[in-house]
Amino acid sequence: MPNNIMGCDTAAIQLNPVIASSFNAHYYEPIPSSRYLFRSDEFWRGLDRWKDIDAELFLNHLWQEKNAITSVAALGDLIKNRISTAFLRDIEEGHQLAPMSIRLTPYVLSLIDWDNPFLDPLRRQFLPLASEKLVDHPMLKLDPMGEQNDSPAPGLTHRYPDRVLFLATNVCPVYCRYCTRSYAVGLDTDVVTKQKINAPGERWEPAFRYIEANSSVEDVVISGGDAYRLKARQITEIGERLLDIPHVRRMRFATKGLAVLPMKVQSDHDWTDAISRLSDRARKMGKSIAIHTHFNHPNEITAITAKALGILYERGVEVRNQAVILRGVNNSKQAMHRLNECLAYLNVRPYYCFQGDMIQGVETLRTSICDSIELEKATRGLIAGHNTPHFIVDLPGGGGKRDIHSYDYYDKQLGVAVYRAPAVKKDKLFLYCDPLHALSPESQALWINPESRVQLLDDVLKSAK
Ligand SMILES: *Cc1c(COP(=O)(O)O)cnc(C)c1O
Ligand code: SF4
Repeated sequence: MPNNIMGCDTAAIQLNPVIASSFNAHYYEPIPSSRYLFRSDEFWRGLDRWKDIDAELFLNHLWQEKNAITSVAALGDLIKNRISTAFLRDIEEGHQLAPMSIRLTPYVLSLIDWDNPFLDPLRRQFLPLASEKLVDHPMLKLDPMGEQNDSPAPGLTHRYPDRVLFLATNVCPVYCRYCTRSYAVGLDTDVVTKQKINAPGERWEPAFRYIEANSSVEDVVISGGDAYRLKARQITEIGERLLDIPHVRRMRFATKGLAVLPMKVQSDHDWTDAISRLSDRARKMGKSIAIHTHFNHPNEITAITAKALGILYERGVEVRNQAVILRGVNNSKQAMHRLNECLAYLNVRPYYCFQGDMIQGVETLRTSICDSIELEKATRGLIAGHNTPHFIVDLPGGGGKRDIHSYDYYDKQLGVAVYRAPAVKKDKLFLYCDPLHALSPESQALWINPESRVQLLDDVLKSAK
């Protein structure tokens, strides 16, 4: 592991003086609009450690990666003079109970408002607090979608007829508390030993062979982990290999990177070139390649993001967004609307907005089905339909993605919705449970008691049929 407590080692990083100019030459600067003046101050200088870091260094992805914070101790060292010892202890204790390890870029760390960290939407996404921990619903799991069950090759999930999910790596530029793959992504924590999926470059061949042998597979989602942690040559290797398979028509590389390390698009020429060359080649073949990214809150968007997304747009790389509805982060009409209008302005297509997965250990971030439906109602119609995401629940047990409001049955009192997914698993019923904190004490008690829980589930399934 890199020594992340080290300060700014300016000598170690060779800055490429043509970085900015070579990309900027073609980039069309949109006319600034007062509604979309993204923050362009040197916000990182607000943290003591980085007060002398100039823009050139801060905008270098190697510097960002080298100075990423990967432990609570290193985090404490960075922010101890900005927060109380009680708050730091709260983070330490929260981390001991958390299924995800810590990793944060200087970019994200310096966008957090350390004068008000409790409410900060970025802090809430990445840093757990023991004091906000809520009791887990008894139906929660670490792999709620059962990805391991639908897996014909290491790191490959084949659930839908025409597309597969390929987990090419198990690491990300940051770790999110609510990760859908808490069973596998990141380092082991005190409470979770991660299942091994692919480390970068390992064991991809069986997945490629499976895709080659199955002509129904037209669409490949390359995820992980995160495509930002794949090297340029690995992006090229995966992309070229898949483009060479005649029946593969569409491909998406999934990364949260644009939201947490946007400068990479500008400073890692090899990576950006690899993606854009693939995108060009795909287009010439009548195929398509896109990036699926993961912005959750407008505070993640700065002038650096606008530049990165401008470069990708100018180079013809399509970018779509998959957000997660997170309580206290983006479950308000204002935050969700602002997120979607900023993404639309930056030519990112808001694609999905997911109901929080039924993952252990992060109940404070989940919303109920009825709250998410209200959020969808409040949001739809404010901007164009093609810029309004689908509000989706990824069904526990592997039923795939459904519109949140398309349940067959919903008991709001007990906080349980029943869905069918006839195109994916015929005749099977799938349950999504609201978090206990959204329910009355009586309903909570019915779930917590194992006997009444069995009865309750039985009754719900009967009513749904
Ligand atoms: C989400 C997902 C896909 C892609 O689904 P879309 O609805 O096309 O975005 C494919 N396979 C698996 C296993 C998935 O979870
Ligand atoms: S970036 Fe994606 S895969 Fe990585 S921790 Fe976050 S949600 Fe999980």
